[in-house]
Amino acid sequence: MIDQQFDIVIVGGGPVGMALALALREHKLSILLLEARELPEEVDDPRPLALSYGSRLILQHLGIWKNLTQPTPITTIHISNFGHFGHTVLTPDDAGVPALGYVVNYHNLYHTMGRSVRDYGVVYRTNALVTTIQTGQQQARITYRQNETEKQIQAKLLVLADGGKLAEQIDGIRYRVHDYRHTAIVANVKTESSRPGTAFERFTLNGPLALLPSGDKYALVWTMPTAEAKKILRLDDRLFLLHLHEQFGDRLGNFIHAGKRSSFPLILKHASTIIGHRSVIIGNAAQTLHPVAGQGFNLGLRDAWELASEISHIPSGAPGEPGSSRMLSVYSKRRQRDKHMGRVFTDSLIKLFTADLPLIQTCNGIGLTVLDCLPPAKRLVARQMIFGTKN
Ligand SMILES: Cc1cc2nc3c(=O)[nH]c(=O)nc-3n(C[C@H](O)[C@H](O)[C@H](O)COP(=O)(O)OP(=O)(O)OC[C@H]3O[C@@H](n4cnc5c(N)ncnc54)[C@H](O)[C@@H]3O)c2cc1C
Repeated sequence: MIDQQFDIVIVGGGPVGMALALALREHKLSILLLEARELPEEVDDPRPLALSYGSRLILQHLGIWKNLTQPTPITTIHISNFGHFGHTVLTPDDAGVPALGYVVNYHNLYHTMGRSVRDYGVVYRTNALVTTIQTGQQQARITYRQNETEKQIQAKLLVLADGGKLAEQIDGIRYRVHDYRHTAIVANVKTESSRPGTAFERFTLNGPLALLPSGDKYALVWTMPTAEAKKILRLDDRLFLLHLHEQFGDRLGNFIHAGKRSSFPLILKHASTIIGHRSVIIGNAAQTLHPVAGQGFNLGLRDAWELASEISHIPSGAPGEPGSSRMLSVYSKRRQRDKHMGRVFTDSLIKLFTADLPLIQTCNGIGLTVLDCLPPAKRLVARQMIFGTKN
């Protein structure tokens, strides 16, 4: 038996699902947001998110930006290659923006958005685990469990923003997956000296190592083969910091403190198509990228923003109602290029800079030096990182 009927049901109240709910808050549509977790009160995840200037503009529109705890502006990005000459430096002038980006903590963003979703009166059910979805020409049917009770609801449009667990229940959607067999180690670290506002992206043969300015600390995202990561995670703080210093070099002096370490396995995953009958997938559910150059959430936020804009432009009573095949195919075409570029950009960086071939590494060094001397090329790279293909 169907318990309730909605215009739109969003499955997954992570940052992308919540962004969509907030972007649609002023529309006269019945919207339900379902999230498997409770809203966490404690903030205990060091995962940093580097938000682009483009994401800042979207979060401002959503009323989120002003409530975030001190986002740290990135005013310089320093890119180098371990053991090879050549580096490049990007500044806001290269991209024509006030800051290249901002560093926030994932849980701070998650929590701030969660409060806003509640404050704006979005129908938001936490502890609600979706188990089954069925999609048809007229409706999508969603089954979820909350407090030991099973419920069935229907929607004209089902949006999956669940990180990618349920999409293969939709006819025609399959994932292509590449396992990098790499892991990201994440921690807050302190260094002897600092360069306020400077983010460092250092390519090593094991994978990229990023230090992002975060208040008076740096947020570290250090990627490497999983077997190596297991060893590094077991080191005590002193050896961990020494090893990190060895890979990063002397730019910031000694590494003097490390906070709690977390680890994340890394894959590249993307869906063969992002739409089905009465359904669409966004955010990590549509594409999960390597964290190099901090593209994943920025791309997912643009998914949510563009989907909301597509839904908003439907005149009421018109044939393109939310979830119609026409509306979905327009959205899908609109997002194709940005998604493709985000995937190719991050994957190519990894392949190029971790190739164990001296000639390629020498070319990369030359490439970074040339890039540093060519303002139009730097502008292109910087704007791709900040705005995607919405340059
Ligand atoms: C180490 C690391 C560093 C990163 N750094 C950056 C960065 O600097 N910049 C950047 O842009 N991106 C970065 N990313 C990527 C970024 O974290 C993700 O792209 C982003 O979190 C995706 O958000 P999402 O809402 O799509 O998915 P998620 O954050 O995965 O949220 C999915 C939500 O769906 C819920 N859910 C799942 N299944 C169900 C179900 N069956 N029923 C109901 N709810 C369900 C989950 O509980 C969760 O809340 C990084 C990623 C990693 C691993």
